[in-house]
Amino acid sequence: MIRGGGVFYRGVMDATEAPSDPATSSSRSTASPAPAAPSALALLDRRVGECRACPRLVAWREEVARTKRAAFADWTYWGRPVPGFGPSDARLLIVGLAPAAHGGNRTGRMFTGDRSGDVLYRALYDVGLASQPTAVSVDDGLELYGVRITSPVHCAPPANRPTPGERDTCRPWLVRELRLLRPTLRAVVVLGAFGWQAALPAFAEAGWTVPRPRPPFGHGARVRLGGPGGREGPDGRAVPDGRAVPNGKGTPEGRDEPDGVHGLDVFGCFHVSQRNTFTGRLTPEMLREVLRTASGAAGLS
Ligand code: SF4
Repeated sequence: MIRGGGVFYRGVMDATEAPSDPATSSSRSTASPAPAAPSALALLDRRVGECRACPRLVAWREEVARTKRAAFADWTYWGRPVPGFGPSDARLLIVGLAPAAHGGNRTGRMFTGDRSGDVLYRALYDVGLASQPTAVSVDDGLELYGVRITSPVHCAPPANRPTPGERDTCRPWLVRELRLLRPTLRAVVVLGAFGWQAALPAFAEAGWTVPRPRPPFGHGARVRLGGPGGREGPDGRAVPDGRAVPNGKGTPEGRDEPDGVHGLDVFGCFHVSQRNTFTGRLTPEMLREVLRTASGAAGLS
């Protein structure tokens, strides 16, 4: 049994354009208190969940949802794109690879219901960024504190390997998410080389300045990106790249001053895949150390 799938998008659309929402239509009684309007990020998440732009991934995610794994035979699989998870004012973003076939593709939440998630959420809890160390379903009560988790590909791929074309097709969702998070976002942890290669162009499209040549991925890598429309200044703060942002405030010299220009600290971390964690390539302490450093850079500690 598969839920959803009623809207066919041939490409990734402008994700923050509000869809018509029966819950907020004018037919609602004026005597009832108005429901809170969904945030732009909530609208984006809803749009992501309806996307069908990659035929191979749509077929795979739905096939997995139909056939299931024997251990989850009594589950109704999500079987759709898995949106990001976490608050809309997150200061720290974690970027993975793609949902797992029987993890996120089953539960509908990032890293929820699989071994990779067990490792990631345990570490987030250990460093004070999650309310509990486990993630088993969307209604398990888990909350993230100042952190959001997303991925450059939102559908489970066969063999955990999206194609470069699928990665590129999905990028506009990540770009839109980054733009919405930009006012508060200060640091990002990228899990694995695939996520790194996918995320750097998205950071550039979302407005940050990415060095050329692009910095290579490595566990423990740390790269400072200049703020939107800007570059890194000598004091480590992002400065405008010769462009003033007209905001009407003016400076003592009579110029407009840049507004909302913030740099971004990007950290590389080995992916929390079973292959890495079972072999000890990534230990819990290595993961906690990256998360601690990144949360400090994001101002969360
Ligand atoms: S991978 Fe991304 S672009 Fe492709 S169908 Fe899924 S959500 Fe849409």
